[in-house]
Amino acid sequence: MEVTSAQFYPNAVIAIHDIQLQTALDRGTTRASAGRVNMMGETTDALALRAQARAARERALNNLPELLEQLEANVTRLGGVVLWARTGAEANHLIAELCESNQVKRITKGKSMVTEETGLNEALQARGIEINESDLGEYILQLRGDHPSHIVTPMIHMTSEQTAQTLHAKLGMPMTDSPEEMTRFVRGVMREKYLEADLGISGVNFAIAESGTIITVENEGNNRLSCNTPRIHVAVMGIEKVLATWEDWVTLAQLLPRSATGQRMNVYTNLFTGPKRPAEQDGPEKFYLVILDNGRSKILAGEYAESLACIRCGACLNACPVYQNVGGHAYGWVYPGPIGSIVSPLLLGVTAAPMLPHASTLCGACQQACPVDIAIPEMLLKLRRDLVQQGDGGWGWKLSMRLWQLGMQSPALYRFGGALASLATRALAGRSGKITWLPGILGGWTRNRDFAPFAARSFRARYAKKAAGRVVALESSTEHKTGDIR
Ligand code: SF4
Repeated sequence: MEVTSAQFYPNAVIAIHDIQLQTALDRGTTRASAGRVNMMGETTDALALRAQARAARERALNNLPELLEQLEANVTRLGGVVLWARTGAEANHLIAELCESNQVKRITKGKSMVTEETGLNEALQARGIEINESDLGEYILQLRGDHPSHIVTPMIHMTSEQTAQTLHAKLGMPMTDSPEEMTRFVRGVMREKYLEADLGISGVNFAIAESGTIITVENEGNNRLSCNTPRIHVAVMGIEKVLATWEDWVTLAQLLPRSATGQRMNVYTNLFTGPKRPAEQDGPEKFYLVILDNGRSKILAGEYAESLACIRCGACLNACPVYQNVGGHAYGWVYPGPIGSIVSPLLLGVTAAPMLPHASTLCGACQQACPVDIAIPEMLLKLRRDLVQQGDGGWGWKLSMRLWQLGMQSPALYRFGGALASLATRALAGRSGKITWLPGILGGWTRNRDFAPFAARSFRARYAKKAAGRVVALESSTEHKTGDIR
């Protein structure tokens, strides 16, 4: 997938003017956020559960090398093979090699963001291997030559009308507005593909170190079919997906579906513990687990380690006012929204995604929604600091920040600046009371919205006057009461 994170602003402008996208985003994020709030409200002590989940993730990240070794030992004991990949290209190469050595021609694949990150589909297709996404949303995107715009609901940017048009144009399905009919139709198409596939690929929601079990959660059953029907199963995970114990999983299992899709529980929770045993009839003959670093150990060693605690629930995306307006494609890579604005610069390098740390109002809705309480706004601020230290921002930006700093250090200058801003903005607003044009760098604001002029009298001035009035009233009432006593 082409990385366009450096073009976030132009991407965002296009997105804001796309009426269909706005309709789809409005429907999708509103529904998801409301579902999450309802379901979290059902838990007896949501904050305690969140603290427990956070502790589980910290336990994993603090002991990552040992847990990964334990996971490898257990997967191997169960008859699986663990492959380590330093980079995305290395992961793709390892999978392509094992496809060649096992004469694999067709693959079905469950939803996996990490393979989007490595560009696995393109790498395998370049070697002549047919690969079919099996998640309904991912499959429709594949038919369109499109990419996911959300880490949980990949085609949140599409309306159901667009989905029907795609199925009609690409697969000849009669036009319908019934999601059930569309699902049934794709299910029929996919059944054949599962039966024909030589190999199934899945992502990994969590891997349990103490037993060597891979967990995937889903609602369609496609992941289960695409990994169990073919003779080989390859699971791909980032190093951060490991958990120490089943107990930790039990905690996270209560939060992931609630935060992601507003469900008490996913429809399917798949536990893959190695390949098929001799006495078993079903399941893959071979099982491979690809564990990918791709820059994660560097993140773990630095001040952004907390970002690896993410369980990819997507709640911060749905809650974010920026994501709600621009959607996922504007972020220009696999990981959109608030967590993507941290992860993408860290994985790609801040210079490849310099606008993403600024793609936030810092309102804090993301952290509030996050089931593992990741300090997203704080990390975004730190990334902005890193950018400035690397020379980001022109002279105009630096000058305005310097003036702001001076003003914040001197009450007199602050008052003067406020009075000046009030005069200037009220003059610009004129009779209409609204500013529809601002000069230079400030024009970015008025290009898409009005700017309200500053008040004629500042809050401090009004407060001081009111407080003075209260003192006078108090004094006179005290005098009056004192007079009564006399
Ligand atoms: S940062 Fe938190 S809310 Fe956002 S996807 Fe990750 S776990 Fe979910």
